[in-house]
Amino acid sequence: MHTRVDIKKDDQVKVITGRDKGKQGRVLRVFPSEAKVLVEHVMMVKKNVRPNPQRNIKGGIAEQESRIAISNVQLVCPSCGPVRIGHEMRGDRKVRVCRKCGTTLDK
Ligand SMILES: [Zn+2]
Repeated sequence: MHTRVDIKKDDQVKVITGRDKGKQGRVLRVFPSEAKVLVEHVMMVKKNVRPNPQRNIKGGIAEQESRIAISNVQLVCPSCGPVRIGHEMRGDRKVRVCRKCGTTLDK
């Protein structure tokens, strides 16, 4: 199944469903083949860390982001909040626009 990926690294997104519903953060990484993203401070999971003195890592439990389905997040428009994305041609470039106010969401 082909999923169109409209989310890019450094986008501001809001979680619209699931455990972390309502949280907002910056996209750290996109996994297009899985249709998933890594969002800062979203879907935090505890992870056991083994001590590694050579790299100055103390053992214990660390918190780390885990992947969330792109369909569970929505791009945030600076003036409208989470919105549906539209597309427009600007010259020969296709850009993402806010469906509500028409603002270009690509820099
Ligand atoms: Zn807008």
